[in-house]
Amino acid sequence: MIKNIWDKKTVRQIVYFMLTAFTIVFLWHTGQKIFNFGHLLEAYELKTFDLRATMAAKNREHNPDIVIVSIDDNSLEVLQDDLGRWPWSRDVYARAIEYMQYDNVGSIAFDLMFVGYQKGFEHKDRELAKTMAKYDNVYTSMNFDYRDNTETAPVLPDNLSVKLKNNSKKIDFSEFSFTYTRLIFQEIIDATEKIGFINFRRDPIDKISRRSPTFFKYQDDYYPYLALKVAADYIKHHENIGADEFIINEKDELIVGNRTLPLDETGSIIINWYGAHYTYDHIPFWRVYKSALNIEKGEPPLIPKDYFKDKTVFVGATAVALYDIKSTPLSSVYPGVELQTTILNNILDNKVIKRVSTTTDLIISLLLGFLVALVVIKIREPIVSSLGCVFIVLAYIFLASYMLDNYLIWVGIIAQVAFMVITFTVMYIIKYVLKAKDFEYTYKLATTDGLTGLYNHRYFQEKLREYMKKADKDRETFSLVLIDIDFFKKFNDTYGHQAGDEVLRQVGQRLKRAVKPADLVARYGGEEMVIILADADTENAVAISNRICKTISENRFKLAEGLEVNVTISLGIATYQIHGKTSTELIEFADKGLYNAKENGRNQVGPMPGISKVTNVN
Ligand code: GH3
Ligand code: MG
Ligand code: MG
Repeated sequence: MIKNIWDKKTVRQIVYFMLTAFTIVFLWHTGQKIFNFGHLLEAYELKTFDLRATMAAKNREHNPDIVIVSIDDNSLEVLQDDLGRWPWSRDVYARAIEYMQYDNVGSIAFDLMFVGYQKGFEHKDRELAKTMAKYDNVYTSMNFDYRDNTETAPVLPDNLSVKLKNNSKKIDFSEFSFTYTRLIFQEIIDATEKIGFINFRRDPIDKISRRSPTFFKYQDDYYPYLALKVAADYIKHHENIGADEFIINEKDELIVGNRTLPLDETGSIIINWYGAHYTYDHIPFWRVYKSALNIEKGEPPLIPKDYFKDKTVFVGATAVALYDIKSTPLSSVYPGVELQTTILNNILDNKVIKRVSTTTDLIISLLLGFLVALVVIKIREPIVSSLGCVFIVLAYIFLASYMLDNYLIWVGIIAQVAFMVITFTVMYIIKYVLKAKDFEYTYKLATTDGLTGLYNHRYFQEKLREYMKKADKDRETFSLVLIDIDFFKKFNDTYGHQAGDEVLRQVGQRLKRAVKPADLVARYGGEEMVIILADADTENAVAISNRICKTISENRFKLAEGLEVNVTISLGIATYQIHGKTSTELIEFADKGLYNAKENGRNQVGPMPGISKVTNVN
């Protein structure tokens, strides 16, 4: 039963594939433990993501209502005369706020931290705090850190934290749990609840920012990322969708209004990029500031009226000297403020990237491996099957890029391609090992006789020609011995065909044992056999033939329990060049000798002209 199933080729192939897959998974786990190559694959996977993200970014359109006011190198230079060197006194920002409010801005978020008071300029700090208090659409930032003097860790006002219900089994915020917060000056904290946090995340493997945190845990409360806070308020305000309480559902998605944003296990969003940096409109800070001054002086502003109307403005530093530069998939010098705008844009569009689970990646790998295995097995032509596999790999890479571009789904490439390559190699090896065995078997079938295990007639004929060629080349000779069992018809009649078969087999074995490896024994047909004696002249051939004739006649054949019989043979000899120059001539001559042996009484080597010893064998 089991053997029957095993004999089905498809069943064998599936078992081979499963063994291959099992081996790969096993090696994988071992390799993972010893060399941590999961880490290596992940590092490459991140690079393929970066390439895909960069390509996809070209087709994306960002929200035109998000604008950046950048404190760029130019602003530092232009405002140096008015304000002195950086850092500027903070009334500067108050003036910028006033100008944008005058221009009916939607909201303003400072990706800048107003840490502590500026000595001697406390009154200017207060001016900024007062301006912020005046408007409920101005946001500013703070960040957390890991200082360990937790006893003195500041307590934050309740209104800065958010309600978060985490129903996910996978997500926890341990990676974003902090012990300390770096305070901005107290008047702002007292003046506004519009404070978001701006710690960012780099992938630990290569220190590149691909993800953005959503919430930070601090003293048992959750605090929102700046862009998330701005986005939630925007949704609440513009779409009347409640976004006071945040929920993470069982599918690991963060609900913001009617948006569902897939999160990773650290509660981070995978950022969906919109293009190289300076994608968003950047207004240099100095123009905003100078416009504010102009308005105070009753002169026209430097920026067209209503430029900021209803827009969400992020104010941040892009000047190289101010060091708010991040590494992202798109660029190694990406302004931090543009990370904020991109995340805000992602949330508003409800378009963040979802990475499939490791299990899904594994299943895809197995399916692709199976496909590759199938192509290797089913397509006979090696070039076609190899090209087929290359096609599968390329098609998969294309599909994976397409998925990211169009469906924002990140499926793995590196692990899958590695799996396909390994499967291809292993299946190829298996295929050729099997093929070699198959060939061996077929070859044996084609050249040997099933009953006696001797070479068959066809093989003998082929070999005979080879022997002749070799003899010609080496100026040697060889002899042919034709053998026929005596009275075999009668033997069959007496003991039955089965016994006859057994005798044929045993005669074959004895002939084989009687000659050297260079010689060839074949079944000529029926109960006739033939030997090619390499290097033997007629005299040698006669001697060997006599010896063979003797061992057959003098040793009884044991057929079954208690049944032993005598068998004799007759033999005819021909020597190459002397008795024939072609195979036909040779065989004819040997056959004549055989006939003579029969005529002469059987159980002997047939008499030949010129060889005296032949006739007196017995
Ligand atoms: P002799 O050669 O001595 O003249 O007599 P013989 O009876 O052997 O002569 P013949 O060549 O006419 O008969 C050959 C017999 O060998 C006929 C056939 O029944 C038997 N034979 C041929 N091939 C096989 C075989 O594969 N198995 C068995 N059992 N018998 C075979
Ligand atoms: Mg015969
Ligand atoms: Mg015979």
